[in-house]
Amino acid sequence: MPHPTRRIFLQTSLTAMAAITGLPHFSRSSMGGEISSAPPKPSFPVADYHVHLSEHLSIDQAVALGKERGIQVGILEHPGPGYPINTDADLKRYIDGLRPFPVRIGLQPVYPGWSKAFSKPLLDQLDYILMDALTMPKPDGGWLAIWQIDTMVDDAEEFMTRYLAFIEQVLTTEPIDIFGWPTFLPVPIARQYSELWTHARMQRIVDLARARKIAIEINEVAHVPDETFITRAKQAGLKFTFGTDSRTPQSAMHFYYCYQMAQKCGLTAADMFVVNKK
Ligand SMILES: [Zn+2]
Repeated sequence: MPHPTRRIFLQTSLTAMAAITGLPHFSRSSMGGEISSAPPKPSFPVADYHVHLSEHLSIDQAVALGKERGIQVGILEHPGPGYPINTDADLKRYIDGLRPFPVRIGLQPVYPGWSKAFSKPLLDQLDYILMDALTMPKPDGGWLAIWQIDTMVDDAEEFMTRYLAFIEQVLTTEPIDIFGWPTFLPVPIARQYSELWTHARMQRIVDLARARKIAIEINEVAHVPDETFITRAKQAGLKFTFGTDSRTPQSAMHFYYCYQMAQKCGLTAADMFVVNKK
């Protein structure tokens, strides 16, 4: 299908963001360069629940990489317009195609209301659902993809109000097990992370996730959420997952930020969300 993948946007926007903002946490080592003092792999079983298969990453490669690195693999695909899974038949083919492999099978919906396109028994066959709040409905219709480099934010406070409302929608009305890319901010306001993510706003996400036992993804590519959020979520009893959001063998099952946060925030096996095979 000749549409640009999210990954292309991600790479463009994150590389550009690192160049523009000079964010200290976008270190070369974590962007694929040489790692001099990598944080240790945690002692608990590690999973990468955010792996996308692609022309560069086959299921066999993903399984082999997982085995090599001692990491459980979770595969995601997007349903909805512009993506490969739109009908029950598509979804069944996807699930049946992955079942023979020792991976967890997930779905990463993009648009609210996505689950209405599929029958409940089929959705129940999925091992998990991860959704982010990166594709925001615009007030005048259409969608704002906030991971894109050219995302414009005229008024940071107004944006945060709309963003929080959309996060609330995602966390309260959709079938969801893991909240992906939590607290990610678009490029123009990324440097204001600590001011914009006030105590109250962070707490709102923590409370919503706790109410439905939704796990929090620590996202390797976006380096979110930050240590403050993770610590607060941990204190509230939330569980976490690690995700590379990868489509290549170079990035799949390759953690730096996640291990660093695990170390800094003292995450243990008890803090991790485990996806079971159905
Ligand atoms: Zn993804």
